[in-house]
Amino acid sequence: MDRLVDEYFRLTSKEPRKVDKDIFEVVEEVFDTATVKAVLELVRRRVIYEIKGVVSAGKEARVYWGKDFEGRDIAIKIYLTTSAEFRKGIIKYLSADPRFSGKIPSTTRKLYSIWAKKEYSNYMRMYEVGVSVPKPIAVYENILVMDFIGSEGVPAPLLKDVELDLKRLREVFDGVVDDLKKMVLKAGLVHGDLSEYNIMIWEDRHYIIDVSQAVTLDHPNAVEYLYRDLNNIVRFFSRRGLKVPTPHELAESLGLFHTR
Ligand code: ATP
Ligand code: MN
Repeated sequence: MDRLVDEYFRLTSKEPRKVDKDIFEVVEEVFDTATVKAVLELVRRRVIYEIKGVVSAGKEARVYWGKDFEGRDIAIKIYLTTSAEFRKGIIKYLSADPRFSGKIPSTTRKLYSIWAKKEYSNYMRMYEVGVSVPKPIAVYENILVMDFIGSEGVPAPLLKDVELDLKRLREVFDGVVDDLKKMVLKAGLVHGDLSEYNIMIWEDRHYIIDVSQAVTLDHPNAVEYLYRDLNNIVRFFSRRGLKVPTPHELAESLGLFHTR
């Protein structure tokens, strides 16, 4: 990481400040020069004070724990991997999304930047209508910054990993269904990858995460994605022993579809 920071300072002929070196202390050598630059820009904008550790190394993005200038915990999601598969996936989603169609960029780097922006704007739309998501803070290039869910750099557990009694299961189910309704009817979005893997449980609350692939209702696959989300939720909670409606009953009771 030091090499990249030095390289950045060589390129920009700026003197390294101590804080600039510190923020990279625990970050592995996975950042390219452009990402290092982007992180430093977020430091300059006083969004990120330091990056303290890796929380998750997923297929397409890494999530880091960091601190802001007030000492509050933040989650920093950085899109990194340059796989052809990811490119294809992104293009499939973007080309059918009216917010982005016709604006498919040519370079992988620009794709990441658009993908990060898309996730930020999805988070924002959900947050604004009261869906329980981490509060989005900033987006710049391939980097998305949001509230950290968890404490001391340890992320809150995912729904799949927590044991809940039937009473809490019911509360979480009702809360998630309520959020789904707000998402669709107020934010006009379908999550598209909703499951026990993308719901965190923290201090008696649930948080829906990982919203980069969420699509608007006019997306040609919106209904298919919504049914998939409903299916996942119904399957998980009924396996845990909760009596829940079928996906179709759920959709109808939510007023999500005008069926028949
Ligand atoms: P995956 O491919 O593993 O689903 P992803 O790249 O799609 O990952 P997310 O699902 O958004 O990324 O985040 C990956 C993990 O990082 C989450 O499972 C969670 O443990 C952690 N994480 C994400 N957002 C936050 C947050 N705001 N606060 C704390 N931890 C978070
Ligand atoms: Mn995820």
